[in-house]
Amino acid sequence: MSAEPDGPEDRLRRFATIWSRAVFPVTSTSSTRPEFEEQLLPLARRLSEALRARTFDADEAKAVGAALVAAHCTDPDALTRSLDCVDAYLVLYCGEESAPQDDLRTRASRLQHAMAAGYAQALRERTLAEQEAIAQAALRAQGVVAQALHASEARFRAVFEGAAIGIGIADLEGNVLQSNGALLRMFGGSEQGVRGRRFQEWTHPDDAPQTWRLYEELVRGEREHYHVEKAFYRPDGTVLWTNLTVSLLRDADGNPEYQLALMEDTTERRLLNLRLRYEATHDALTGLPNRTLFFERLEKALSAGEGQRFGLCYLDLDGFKTINDSLGHAAGDRLLVEVADRLQSCATAPGEMVARLGGDEFVALTTGPDTEAEVDELAARIMNVLLAPVRIDGRELTVRGSIGIVEGPAGERGPAEVLRSADITMYRAKSAGGNRFELADPEADARAITRHGLTTALPAALERGEFFIEYQPLVHLGDGTVRGAEALVRWLHPQHGVLGPDQFIPLAEHTGLIVPLGRWVLEQSVRQARDWRELYGDGSPLRINVNLSPCQLTHPGLVQDTVDILERTGVEPDALCLEVTESALIGADDDLLKPLRRLAEMGVDIALDDFGTGYSNLANLRRLPVSILKLDRSFTQSMQQFPADPVDLKIVEGIVSLAHSLNLAVTVEGVETGAQAEQLRILGCDTAQGWYYARPGPPERLHELALVDATG
Ligand code: C2E
Ligand code: CA
Ligand code: CA
Repeated sequence: MSAEPDGPEDRLRRFATIWSRAVFPVTSTSSTRPEFEEQLLPLARRLSEALRARTFDADEAKAVGAALVAAHCTDPDALTRSLDCVDAYLVLYCGEESAPQDDLRTRASRLQHAMAAGYAQALRERTLAEQEAIAQAALRAQGVVAQALHASEARFRAVFEGAAIGIGIADLEGNVLQSNGALLRMFGGSEQGVRGRRFQEWTHPDDAPQTWRLYEELVRGEREHYHVEKAFYRPDGTVLWTNLTVSLLRDADGNPEYQLALMEDTTERRLLNLRLRYEATHDALTGLPNRTLFFERLEKALSAGEGQRFGLCYLDLDGFKTINDSLGHAAGDRLLVEVADRLQSCATAPGEMVARLGGDEFVALTTGPDTEAEVDELAARIMNVLLAPVRIDGRELTVRGSIGIVEGPAGERGPAEVLRSADITMYRAKSAGGNRFELADPEADARAITRHGLTTALPAALERGEFFIEYQPLVHLGDGTVRGAEALVRWLHPQHGVLGPDQFIPLAEHTGLIVPLGRWVLEQSVRQARDWRELYGDGSPLRINVNLSPCQLTHPGLVQDTVDILERTGVEPDALCLEVTESALIGADDDLLKPLRRLAEMGVDIALDDFGTGYSNLANLRRLPVSILKLDRSFTQSMQQFPADPVDLKIVEGIVSLAHSLNLAVTVEGVETGAQAEQLRILGCDTAQGWYYARPGPPERLHELALVDATG
């Protein structure tokens, strides 16, 4: 007994016990159950260690899968039960409680994948080795049988009857003369099914093309033996798969006399292989073909010959996430199963298929010469079967979907391109309100700026240098001189042209790319500031304003990155102003403010951007390490009409005087006319920015503007 009744060793042992209990009934091992458990224990230990290892190692789990095959767990159920066991118990008995459970679960499911892969590979290798052994045995048997025929009838009988593989002898016309017990058992056990039949009667639709040519060559005496994989119908109509070796027996003078067939029953193994293949190509939840199988079919359809076309419907359910979130995953799963069943009923013609790509995304494919009309009908059928509500837990759920349709001739595009187009089109259907289908239009594809497409292209865009920065001058309202510029990032997208920050900054924030992107903008802008300084000398320093996203604010590297960039470029901190939106600082606690405070202490200016759009408490301003307020464009806009709304004017005046009393400078945005500029100057604003002075543009533009100031 161990001192600690429930130590890791006991828990591991319990896992091995459960595992062995689950799998033992379906093994063909000669061990007892406790012996079998001893065999599984080291495998359990390897899985347990792989679960907790610092870095994930798929090879460990693959080796465990292979070891299962070596331990005679070759029944398909043995794998399924093992995976179930790992799924249900590995984390429970072998995970550390302190580790994040989600990580362990992810790990465990990756281990299962690797185990299944190792298992399949080992099984394949074993099958090949066995086939080789059988072929060898067959050749040996041929020698033995020939010898026995010549030597002694009694010895021949013994070999014949005792053999574990099926043996049959036929004359050169194909009449079966003798067959041993093993062969009779393969054919269902009755003599009539085999004896007196002619070998040529055993044709099967799956016969390989060369099967009967080899047979003819053998009976003509032109070949000594051949080896094929062949199926037979048993008398009861079921199918028997065999590895068949047929050899020619010659008489004492060397003339062909008999043919000797040696066959091994491979039906079970074939079924297992089919099942493994099935599992690898079908979705476990709905039983529909999965992405792998779908890609195979699509690839085939796209490489079909002249005159062949394809039509694809890409379906994404509308609002599925809401159902999942509100009713739970079990209900979501049942909904998906129901949808899968209905979809399946839509695509039953030859050349049609339905698959689940993952989540709530399905595809239906139709192929042949007439897909132009067929694909529309297919989409209409799909919309139609979704109409009836789905009953789950006594609730009636309405299911709606958006479909993107791509149709075209085979031989022009690859599967990835077709799927991308279908995906873009589906998003178009979704953004048009959903519950509809749209047809792909290559031009619209090229223009369509989908959230999805842009998101996946973002990381590469940064590496490829597709971003650039435009600068918009900040002008002093008192004397009209250019004091600096705000850096505004743009994306020169290879297909969509120049995209503004509103189109990609939210995506970059969502994916985390905003951190490296923001760092790049900061570095570029600070370099630009240094170049300006070199151009004008320190006498009229141009300052640079750079926007910071909320994600950058919480990123631990912010202060260090900024310091590094300033040091590398040799720019003084007071040449830099970081703009943070008011909304990002609402309710900010000290932890969030700390990095900004550090930067402010170093001399970097912090501006509160889009001021007036949030609901921040004005008194709160004192707490914030800000030195500049940037009044939102909406204030300037309300000054557009003449005369301006006196209440608005009062508000701006109030804000300006409050800001000044807190020692904050005020910058106004969106100044489009001289009248606005004048008005804002009278109200006491310090700096202005807007189209009236200049639109955002290349850095050279700023030189010109600043030079005009300097000279004029
Ligand atoms: P923002 O900081 O409020 O930037 C000012 C926006 O107003 C810019 O839009 C600018 O082009 C536009 N604008 C300037 N003058 C006028 C005018 O007189 N009239 C009108 N109607 N608009 C004017 P843009 O370049 O599209 O930038 C949009 C937003 O994207 C920016 O708003 C900023 O929040 C964000 N952004 C831009 N660059 C970056 C960046 O490098 N990093 C981060 N995190 N955000 C950025
Ligand atoms: Ca800004
Ligand atoms: Ca702004």
